[in-house]
Amino acid sequence: MSLENLPAISVPLPWQAEAWSRWQAQLAADQLPHALLVSGPEGVGKQRLAVALSRWLLCHAPRNAANCGECPACRHSRAGSHGDWLWVGPSGKGQVIRVDQIREVIAFAWRTAGFGRRKVITLVPADRMNTAAANALLKCLEEPAEDTFLILVTDRLHALPATVRSRCQRLSLPLPEAGQALDWLDPLTGQRERSQALLDLAAGRPLRAEALFRSDAAEALGARRTLLADYLQGRARLPQVAAALGERPLLEALDEIEALLLSQLRGASREQLRGGGRDWLRVLDELAALRRSAVAGANPNPQLALESLLVPLERSFLGGEGGATMKRSSIGGSP
Ligand SMILES: [Zn+2]
Repeated sequence: MSLENLPAISVPLPWQAEAWSRWQAQLAADQLPHALLVSGPEGVGKQRLAVALSRWLLCHAPRNAANCGECPACRHSRAGSHGDWLWVGPSGKGQVIRVDQIREVIAFAWRTAGFGRRKVITLVPADRMNTAAANALLKCLEEPAEDTFLILVTDRLHALPATVRSRCQRLSLPLPEAGQALDWLDPLTGQRERSQALLDLAAGRPLRAEALFRSDAAEALGARRTLLADYLQGRARLPQVAAALGERPLLEALDEIEALLLSQLRGASREQLRGGGRDWLRVLDELAALRRSAVAGANPNPQLALESLLVPLERSFLGGEGGATMKRSSIGGSP
């Protein structure tokens, strides 16, 4: 996410209300920890929450439990030009957060705030720090600078070293209840059925559903999802599916397979989990490994990588006793 196009006031999402009021109480009591680690699946609004918290901390006159939207600090944070707010993300060919970026974080932390009382450093996604960067960050976590808040955001908590995790106050944001997500999507889509279809395609992740709606990509995704489901039921051939998914960048194709599997796992009965479910979990592990190597710049052959996931998946769905059957009605189709 970039810091462009921010609204004047950044508020947390409805399913983040509990965490938000806890932070407010902690800040009011002067007990908000200097390092916060926000984790949870992609698409639940962790970055949005980090932005809301950062801007609230920087605002000169917060009101109604949010930044005011009008003070000079809010104008600068909205434009991404606030001198006391450092947003750090992956860069360069390997898309990692490098040690020189963390050195900049440390220098920033020890500088006096130029604009208000507090400084905020946001690391998104924090799991992209390489080892040297994570080690350098420890210094910042062990000797916190006064009135400086460090907010780490990650989809992959366990990709962060335990030494970093253990020095932060952790907030885990799970997928929201479907009802809450749908209530939030309805004003955007104007129709409950459409919200439901988008949320299904997005594997229950409301911000991904919102992005699908805005990008108009839902129809093509629905078609690929149906093709993938057909393949798992023995109604489509591997080369056809691999080719359709292979047109996508590898990381996105992996996301699509993962979303399908997660939605199946959520809807699976205990019997299904005892049967094919275990194979799905193995495939999810392999998928995570492929993603890690792709992110690290290993550049695997996309076709082979996809086939290495699709072949065992098909076996788990079609194969033998206890093989899982997929409820076709719950997936695929254009919304
Ligand atoms: Zn303000």
